[in-house]
Amino acid sequence: MQNTTHYHQLLSLEVFPPKKEDEFESAYEVLNQMAQLHPAFISVTYGAGGSRSKKTIDIASYIQNNLHIPALAHMTCVGSKKEELLAVYGELKKANVTKVLALRGDRPKTMSDAQYESRDFAHASDMIAFLKENTDLQIAGACYPEKHPESFSLEADLQYLKLKQDMGAEFFISQMFFDNDYFYAFRDRALQKGITLPIHAGIMPITSSRQLGTTVTLSGSSIPKALADLFAKYGEEPEDMKKAGIDYCIRQILDLKQIGVDGIHLYSMNRPRTTAEIAEAIR
Ligand code: FAD
Repeated sequence: MQNTTHYHQLLSLEVFPPKKEDEFESAYEVLNQMAQLHPAFISVTYGAGGSRSKKTIDIASYIQNNLHIPALAHMTCVGSKKEELLAVYGELKKANVTKVLALRGDRPKTMSDAQYESRDFAHASDMIAFLKENTDLQIAGACYPEKHPESFSLEADLQYLKLKQDMGAEFFISQMFFDNDYFYAFRDRALQKGITLPIHAGIMPITSSRQLGTTVTLSGSSIPKALADLFAKYGEEPEDMKKAGIDYCIRQILDLKQIGVDGIHLYSMNRPRTTAEIAEAIR
């Protein structure tokens, strides 16, 4: 068993499971390297329709049982029936995984209107209430410093976040953001709403211009001028862009650390070297 005093108390990591069966060995190798950083926990993403749950559980199991690091399995509910969630719970229990990030997920393209209208869980808070009543899982929820893209106001979004707390969530992990001021303002407003649970800041290092066009755009997070300037300066120079992106990420985390943050959840993109560089710099 790993000595918990060596844990990087501030830092947790997010990884995604391999897409193909023959990629598991290299995924385990990546995780072995991540384990050297002694994160407080490692979370594993989940496919929206529940389609990839087995891969999520296999990777979470490896983290929990082979690396002896607490695993947090993401679970989505938009395409799942109650009994399917309970079946996933059964698998998690067998794998010794006791923590989940309970998410609504996004509507899969294959889901018909009729299926969507008759879904068992409309919102993540419904799933949290269900899991709280029917399982012994420790449950986390997602939050959005710049509001969820579907929400018409941060105020409404916070109201539903409070519901996740009331239904039994134990902590929150935020969507990525690149401007800490959004996070600080969000925390203040959350506290005013009576949201007292720890909020872990979701941070993603941006190491290429391609990443900006995909992940970041999808997240809806805004790009502050300081980061946009880096792209203007280094966007055509992959090595320089990578270095500048990692440096930006480290400065962002050090600022959060100085002001005080419950945790840093690093979207690792399964990149052990970049992750190690950041973990060492913020220790
Ligand atoms: P909810 O909390 O249900 O919120 C969704 C929207 O509904 C918001 O606009 C909210 O304001 C509104 N709402 C909530 N409750 C109510 C209510 N009672 N009445 C009316 N409106 C309401 N997706 C994946 O598919 N797999 C993953 O592994 C994954 N990991 C993620 C990890 C993190 C840290 C984050 C921040 C997101 C992740 N996502 C993942 C994306 C997530 O599934 C989407 O952002 C999804 O659109 C919303 O999920 P949620 O749990 O926040 O939903």
